[in-house]
Amino acid sequence: MMGVKREIRMAKPNPPKLSEHLAELIALEQSGTFSNYGFQARRLERELIEQLFDSGHCLSVCNATMGLMVAIRSTLWRRKKQRKYALMPSYTFAATAHAALWCGLTPLFCDVDADTWLGSEAAEEELLCRYKDEIAVVIPCTTFGNSIDMARYDRYHRRYDVDIVVDAAAALGSKGHEGKQFGQGSRWPIVYSMHATKPFSSGEAGVIYSADSDWIEEMRAMASFGFEQPRVAMLPGLNAKISEIAALTAFLQLQRFEEVVDQRARLKVQYEISLPELKRQSVNGQRQVASYEFVLLPEEIAHLRSHMIEDLKDRGIGTGCYFSPHLAEQSYFAQCSVSGPLPNTETLSHQVLTLPMYDTMTREEVQYVSDELLAVLSKYTERDLTPTAQPCIPEPAYVMGQPA
Ligand SMILES: *Cc1c(COP(=O)(O)O)cnc(C)c1O
Repeated sequence: MMGVKREIRMAKPNPPKLSEHLAELIALEQSGTFSNYGFQARRLERELIEQLFDSGHCLSVCNATMGLMVAIRSTLWRRKKQRKYALMPSYTFAATAHAALWCGLTPLFCDVDADTWLGSEAAEEELLCRYKDEIAVVIPCTTFGNSIDMARYDRYHRRYDVDIVVDAAAALGSKGHEGKQFGQGSRWPIVYSMHATKPFSSGEAGVIYSADSDWIEEMRAMASFGFEQPRVAMLPGLNAKISEIAALTAFLQLQRFEEVVDQRARLKVQYEISLPELKRQSVNGQRQVASYEFVLLPEEIAHLRSHMIEDLKDRGIGTGCYFSPHLAEQSYFAQCSVSGPLPNTETLSHQVLTLPMYDTMTREEVQYVSDELLAVLSKYTERDLTPTAQPCIPEPAYVMGQPA
């Protein structure tokens, strides 16, 4: 590799290639149906239950943001109560707050736990007490695919009379403490993304899960202009339907998804071996799907992060800092939201560094990224962070998307 300029991007979306599934594509075109919950959408919904969830019901949507809008709006419609706030972590992606705002709610930002990076129970309880009777919905987020404890949110529902919608964008493939797909069995709408950059990569698509089939059918009508009878709007509505092409792509991704999850898990192990000194998110539940590798920079040099990102770029490595700035810091949300204290969020978003991960990445590339990161860190800390031994696990015989 000496002298060869490396090029390791942070992400390389790898959705299924439709050109390799011509028979499926031709059948779709010949069916004459391109949307409106046709064969592809229905098959995707059925197979998601069959292969991932085991029980419950799915509604396919055009993306997770629209899915969140439908789910949040449906909680408001069902309750017919006027309340002001949507409680959510500030340490998440913009879509969560946007969806609440489109539903006429004001985001109320709470802090996250320093270890799991999930909504902090103490911070949530404090805001639930302080804004009692003004909070319509709590929208916990499965930060980077980490599972949340749904029992806690059921308790909030009983104690504070709030509804729950989960932003589970990157959690398809993650397993909770019971070892089942995260969200399985929940009556509350759980919204997952199938965006190209998520581990369940398929372009633009998403799915809402609930154990309650009536609720799923109500959201299905909402996602199709609020039509409960042909062309008669009986519910608040918009168009959040998935296209048949997108549903086919997602179905194909489902067929190989376990392999994707396994490959990413192997890459994650290699990162952990190669970068043992850096702090990371602790996993809640039995399995967290790896979207990227997230590490915390040593506190004393975190303010130099942008320089380190530049240095890594010079070494051919793309990195990022999710989620920095966090939502309360972004100018639009700052104008139209309310925030509780956010000490852990501030620390995390100050120190986090997002490292590359993609299906076709090799362990050797992980090793390269890790070595270069350690070299950069040593430069700024004047400490040698290199572990004494850095075993590189041999490559598996087959690497996703590449011949052995
Ligand atoms: C990706 C993401 C979304 C948005 O998903 P889309 O399918 O792109 O709309 C929402 N919330 C979080 C936390 C995300 O990471």
